[in-house]
Amino acid sequence: MRFQAPRGTHDVLPGDSFRWRFVEETFREVCRRFGYAEIRTPTFEDTQLFLRGIGEGSEIVVDKQMYSFNDPGGDSLTLRPEGTAPAVRAFLENSLHAQGPVTKVFYTGPIFRYERPQSGRLREHHQCGIELFGSIDPAADAEVIQLGVRYLRSLDIRGEEIHINSVGCPACRPAYLQVLRRYVKPHLSEMCGNCQRRYEANPLRILDCKVDVCRAATADAPPMHDSLCGECSDHLTGCREVLDLYGIECVLDDRLVRGLDYYTKTAFEFLHGGLGAQSAVLSGGRYDGLVEECGGSPTPGVGFGSGVERVLLAMEAEQSQPVAPEPITAFVITLGDAARKAGLKLLADLRAVGLAADTDYAGRSMKAQMKEANRCGARYAVIIGEDEVAHNAATVKDLATSEQASVRMESLVGSLVE
Ligand SMILES: [Zn+2]
Ligand SMILES: [Zn+2]
Repeated sequence: MRFQAPRGTHDVLPGDSFRWRFVEETFREVCRRFGYAEIRTPTFEDTQLFLRGIGEGSEIVVDKQMYSFNDPGGDSLTLRPEGTAPAVRAFLENSLHAQGPVTKVFYTGPIFRYERPQSGRLREHHQCGIELFGSIDPAADAEVIQLGVRYLRSLDIRGEEIHINSVGCPACRPAYLQVLRRYVKPHLSEMCGNCQRRYEANPLRILDCKVDVCRAATADAPPMHDSLCGECSDHLTGCREVLDLYGIECVLDDRLVRGLDYYTKTAFEFLHGGLGAQSAVLSGGRYDGLVEECGGSPTPGVGFGSGVERVLLAMEAEQSQPVAPEPITAFVITLGDAARKAGLKLLADLRAVGLAADTDYAGRSMKAQMKEANRCGARYAVIIGEDEVAHNAATVKDLATSEQASVRMESLVGSLVE
């Protein structure tokens, strides 16, 4: 019997985990610079939170992508399929709005969606995201996008293309949906099943269908921005003006819509050529209706989510190399029982002063221990044999230059520290 990781999941192995840490630490540092504080929410939430927060018409719900289960007590819980609804729930439950008019949080963690196996998508992936609550200022949207740009730059990713659009608001979207339905109706019979299903409940999503006939049918569809109300139109202009100020270029993209019902006004995506067909490395937008939908008083919000796996692919495509972890400073090599004791004590002393140090636990020969010291990238091999024990000293060998010297035990830790 051999166990395998569940389909659509993967292990992050020791040789690779420093890349993950580099991405997550970079994200944390950029968030700190922009005044966002970390929030950690549970991995699972009340299923109803997602049904309300994502919307029953969204693909996640319609395509049954949620990992929902009844716990032994009979409560229906769901592994989080996205990061925003949990942040909103925590924001409301803990009255974070009481600390000031604007709340800025970031999160990192796993996201679970029951994707079809042939889609090549992961069922557990990892996301970094931010949410800014309490502001209708278009400069807030621009800040969220700017943070995304700084995040990618700090990872040495430069090849993204930013697409932006406005999906309107409850005042102007219904009229546009009618315009869109009227335009689409004559073509509907030749369009894909998804689009036919979306026609009534979620016609906006017809615009981002990837099926050729559907794309052709909507090629000349009237764009949303012709139907925006004054407020939405001014908001989009205002956001783009601030982005100009920051020197951030973006493309107005009429086909950029959001699958989730609560999105209003600004929607954006950072596309990256290194990712193939699923090319968004970061996406987000404004969700002014969500907090109210989740039971709070009306509170605007804007944010983004970005998949760590996709960011790593983009880094690979751009040959961005994260800083490799510091190798071990000292590998302690011993021969004989007395030397072993002296070696273990030395190992503890080295670690206590903050040096990375290791030793052999496989009972290897002196020669094999030396090989291991080289393999693990240690700077020094610290060798303790019978002679050394007798003289209360150790032989320190610089593995780069092969120079070696005898150092007395009491000054050994100090000599390696500098
Ligand atoms: Zn509007
Ligand atoms: Zn379609």
